[in-house]
Amino acid sequence: MDLDVLLPSLIPSLQSVYVLVSYFAYLAVAGELLPGKVIRGVVLSDGSQLRYRCNGLFALTLLVAILGISAKLGIVSPLVVADRGLELLSATFIFCVLVTLVLYITGRSSSDKSSSLKPHVSGNLIHDWWFGIQLNPQFLSIDLKFFFVRAGMMGWLLINLSILAKSVQDGSLSQSMILYQIFCALYILDYFVHEEYMTSTWDIIAERLGFMLGWWLLHNKVELTVPAIVANCFVFLIGYMVFRGANKQKHIFKKNPKTPIWGKPPLVVGGKLLASGYWGIARHCNYLGDLMLALSFSLPCGISSPVPYFYPIYLLILLIWRERRDEVRCAEKYKEIWAEYLRLVPYRILPYVY
Ligand code: NDP
Repeated sequence: MDLDVLLPSLIPSLQSVYVLVSYFAYLAVAGELLPGKVIRGVVLSDGSQLRYRCNGLFALTLLVAILGISAKLGIVSPLVVADRGLELLSATFIFCVLVTLVLYITGRSSSDKSSSLKPHVSGNLIHDWWFGIQLNPQFLSIDLKFFFVRAGMMGWLLINLSILAKSVQDGSLSQSMILYQIFCALYILDYFVHEEYMTSTWDIIAERLGFMLGWWLLHNKVELTVPAIVANCFVFLIGYMVFRGANKQKHIFKKNPKTPIWGKPPLVVGGKLLASGYWGIARHCNYLGDLMLALSFSLPCGISSPVPYFYPIYLLILLIWRERRDEVRCAEKYKEIWAEYLRLVPYRILPYVY
């Protein structure tokens, strides 16, 4: 892309700010008002439990319906995200920096003693701003972590739908685009169907780079062979099975450690850690599933360029780093129980490799 075009499009226009603000306003109102199962989060160190209203699927369906009808009536353009992608990206980036600065300031000045709002200050400004100060900061009683994960996942679908509309309009719709759209849509819908499982994950913030792949397909026509399509579907299905299966097993185990795993009583270490099912294959099998899914989103782009593989490579680095930090935390928390688990399950993510 020409620098003369690229640089101005990185400066957020008033319209991109308007789109972003409307989107967040919708999510805040829908999250509070729409009905949904209220789930208690994990028990925090002070014994408290946060509550999460899991109405994401309802909020997403309603939003897509509103946008679909508005597009049909000519009130909004379905291409607004595809056409203003870079502007929206830079507006979101500036917004994130501002929000995290506000969180830094409010976190530092908080004197709250509860586990969710107690400030954790290292004194290093960059470290505290990057990692955050409070565990579950809130704004107008909205849990911001849960809110932003939801915003990211829904935003990913909206970006993809807009890119799909553009490719239909341009007449450039390809098999690769359809595969990419289906895999991502299934992954995102699955997230909202199982939204309550997110309440027990270590850190629920996940930034996704869906725009990049769709945008790449919009500008590069890829013809896939039938075996390549079958292999791609296979990677997606196995990845999904491992990702969802592992996260589900852990979630169910945390709720009731006696629930059978794969039809057998679970193997439990020290009464706390699950060592059977996926959690007996590798200590972070859920990351393996996620990595396979990320790969399946990129494979429709073919192998002629490394550009579409940015996301799986980024995720590989992120998850290895995350897994290392999680292991340090678990070793400190579970001590000899963790050492026993390491003995029983020696692999971190991929059996016999890592
Ligand atoms: P996990 O769901 O793996 O949670 C790790 C925590 O689970 C540990 O801190 C520990 O917490 C508990 N735990 C670990 N081992 C066991 C065990 N054997 N038995 C019982 N409990 C155990 O991590 P994440 O929250 O990082 O990931 C959740 C999902 O989100 C993953 O599938 C990951 O791939 C995905 N993700 C995706 C990202 C993206 O950008 N696409 C980014 C980050 C995550 P405790 O103290 O409660 O026991």
